[in-house]
Amino acid sequence: MSTAAPLSATPAAPAPLKPHYDVVIVGGGQAGLSMSWYLQQAGIEHIVFEKHAQVHAWRTQRWDAFSLVTPNWQCQLPGHPYDGDDPHGFMKKDEIVAYLARFVAKVAAPVREGVEVRRVVPLADGRFSVLTSLGATTARQVVVASGCYQDPIVPDYADAIPAGVAQIHSADYRNPQALPDGAVLVVGSGQSGAQIAEDLHLAGRRVHLATGNAPRCARFYRGRDVVDWLADMGYYEKSVLEHPLREGVRDNTNHYVTGRDGGRDIDLRAFAREGMQLYGALTGIEDGRLAFAPDLQANLDAADKVYNGINAAIDKHIDERGIDAPPPSVYAPVWRPDAERTSLDLAAEGIGAIVWCIGLRPDFGWIDAPVFDGRGHPVHLRGVSEQPGLYFLGLPWLHTWGSGRFSGVARDAQHLAGHIATALAGTRHATPALASA
Ligand SMILES: Cc1cc2nc3c(=O)[nH]c(=O)nc-3n(C[C@H](O)[C@H](O)[C@H](O)COP(=O)(O)OP(=O)(O)OC[C@H]3O[C@@H](n4cnc5c(N)ncnc54)[C@H](O)[C@@H]3O)c2cc1C
Repeated sequence: MSTAAPLSATPAAPAPLKPHYDVVIVGGGQAGLSMSWYLQQAGIEHIVFEKHAQVHAWRTQRWDAFSLVTPNWQCQLPGHPYDGDDPHGFMKKDEIVAYLARFVAKVAAPVREGVEVRRVVPLADGRFSVLTSLGATTARQVVVASGCYQDPIVPDYADAIPAGVAQIHSADYRNPQALPDGAVLVVGSGQSGAQIAEDLHLAGRRVHLATGNAPRCARFYRGRDVVDWLADMGYYEKSVLEHPLREGVRDNTNHYVTGRDGGRDIDLRAFAREGMQLYGALTGIEDGRLAFAPDLQANLDAADKVYNGINAAIDKHIDERGIDAPPPSVYAPVWRPDAERTSLDLAAEGIGAIVWCIGLRPDFGWIDAPVFDGRGHPVHLRGVSEQPGLYFLGLPWLHTWGSGRFSGVARDAQHLAGHIATALAGTRHATPALASA
């Protein structure tokens, strides 16, 4: 006799939402869960709405050979610092997913997975109307932790590329074998583009790479990870208000470097010497050929200038403190383009696939509140918007370099928890337990 429970003909209906929550958190990534961690500590009632599954981006939007770019010790999620035995290493994709699964279990957030928030609008009485795929509710406070990598950016002229050439975005790239045969054009040399180009290059694929203005940095310099030096130099403590670019730093492209195989530089000139075809920025399609700006040399030089500049700042730090370290060095180009190649015939070069690595943009279209600038970027001070009760978390340089990363999101979440506690209590001061670090 079977002991299995009888199969139900229809799946159980999801539990309805409560009519009101003190706090709604939108997004169940590391930012939303960090927020939940601190609200739980403060005994503040809340719910997290996640349209897919918690921390899914690390499973669904990273390629197979992905390794952290930041060293493991910078994984500083609240209550869950890096717990392995290689703090100066770089977790691989499966290890990151496992680290995050332990975080999810530890936080045990009140999450409703598979529930999309479709509209948030302030009400006259100070609450927010929150419309979700499961129905409507209201909230006193709303934390937007929906991530900044939502909508893949692909240029309009991509439509004019012949149908025989496969096109995918970096968020969907998995491995070289999953692409059709032939050469591959990678567009964009930021962190994802440079690493995906390397992944294809290491697999023996013929790679064409359209570069942009991304800077680069060394992985190791004078005996240590550059991140370690910058940490000692206080770079990661510097707030956006102290940065020379102020809020402009939020637009900066990340430096390209990798944590793969224990970490190393990414030197596009070395790839070119080995056969990778480099171009300047892709500008469009003209007469059936891809067109590039004549700025390859400038892009490479600019990236190296940043690389050498960061190293020089480390040299200064070492000199000023009399630190005993291996001798300094200056990167000297190992390859230079003979000429700028400004056009490419996809068919003649046998290109079977294009990987767009020109970024993803956030989607805040569901927020109906006057908290955005002319470019659609949220205006806030350390995540606190001008709309009382509406907060942002997890954005690059929300407060510091680490705000959009594993290293700084906890601090920002703790700061917002203090604001939320104050707002809910109707007092002007946060409780000491929630005072910002
Ligand atoms: C390729 C890549 C490499 C990276 N490498 C590193 C690294 O090495 N080190 C590091 O520290 N950081 C790295 N980061 C940066 C950062 O750690 C990740 O982007 C991380 O996923 C950000 O977490 P988050 O919670 O802010 O956003 P996300 O992980 O994007 O989570 C946001 C969540 O919100 C959900 N959501 C969005 N809209 C709605 C809605 N309307 N309703 C309900 N749910 C919604 C989404 O489904 C998603 O799960 C990397 C990022 C990328 C893209």
